[in-house]
Amino acid sequence: MPNPIFASLTTTIFEEMSALARETGAINLGQGFPDDNGPERLRRAAAEAVLNGPSQYPPMLGVLALREAVARHYQRHQALTLDPASQIVVTSGATEAIAASLLALIAPGDEVVLFQPVYDSYLPMVRLAGGVPRLARLTPPHWRIDRAMLESVFSPRTRLVVLNNPLNPAATVAPAEDLALLAEFCVAHDAICICDEVWEQVVFAPHVHRPLLAFPGMAERCVKIGSAGKMFGVTGWKVGFACAAPPLAALIAKAHQFLTFTTPPSLQAAVAWGLDHSETWFADMPAALAESRDRLAGGLRREGFAVLDSAGTYFLNIDLPASGVDLDDRSFALHAVRTAGVASIPVSAFYAAEPVTTILRLCVSKADATLDEGVIRLARARDALAWSPAPPPTD
Ligand code: GLN
Repeated sequence: MPNPIFASLTTTIFEEMSALARETGAINLGQGFPDDNGPERLRRAAAEAVLNGPSQYPPMLGVLALREAVARHYQRHQALTLDPASQIVVTSGATEAIAASLLALIAPGDEVVLFQPVYDSYLPMVRLAGGVPRLARLTPPHWRIDRAMLESVFSPRTRLVVLNNPLNPAATVAPAEDLALLAEFCVAHDAICICDEVWEQVVFAPHVHRPLLAFPGMAERCVKIGSAGKMFGVTGWKVGFACAAPPLAALIAKAHQFLTFTTPPSLQAAVAWGLDHSETWFADMPAALAESRDRLAGGLRREGFAVLDSAGTYFLNIDLPASGVDLDDRSFALHAVRTAGVASIPVSAFYAAEPVTTILRLCVSKADATLDEGVIRLARARDALAWSPAPPPTD
């Protein structure tokens, strides 16, 4: 018998939509990745490391130069003090860091609080670890956490919380007030929070990213997860890091050693170099993405679409009913890719229960011409609906 947790899953919505985009030759505003290859200097550093650096197993915890560069980066950007020797584990992408953290920190029967919209990998890995999911439900347009919501999902059996901030797909950056509230609940319930902060550098002014780990009482109970793929726009590199107090980091390392054991040393070396030579990158990169966001939002508004705020991430959301679309998000996404040549992500895919079905996620990290053509095609998809023949009678 296959493992029912995985056997019952469908292919991820990102793969599904990207495959449809490839098949139909559609513009892909679905899966979140930039349509360039990332900074050339970073890629040259990787090429140099492939040619002249070591190719054999690096240390299981990650190349020391990278762990030191990660510690310096977080000191510089978030005023965090992390010990490279005992508080940082390099993983093969943030997805592995999340899996390792969940597998290492959940004992069967532990309750795990998750927030919907929930990133697709969290729930299956919580279940695999034997955790019992407790789902809170955030809703548009503000996607905020509140006290009543937390009271309804925390219990004496809560062991773990998973937070994604900035939040994919909502494109929100949690305000200090929400984080303080969550920290209060974590401390009161003696719970650990796994903070998936892969979008921490993709935050648009005037918003600021605040790591939950810096809140009172949280340093000992937070696992902060970062991603070089998101920091530098090289999503295929799969270099991530889990940062936590030494006892938590040691447990995560035990899971990591049997998931992937190590991560390609050349890419680790290149990321270390990039973090130390980033100069204005972490200001320029989000500023350029904010321009793309504004271009896409402006074009969509001119076509009569209702656009939600985007404070960070690669994403911008459309409110479908307010945009004159009388279809649920998944049906519209399938219709748009098949008939108008534009792929997107239905936000309902991020809900396990009571899905929000009115929001469509678009990726902004694309060339101007791609965004402009995407707007035209989305408008065409919507306008085609108005002209479709009435469905045949069902009786
Ligand atoms: N993080 C990407 C997104 O939200 C998807 C990554 C993946 O396809 N697994 O679009």
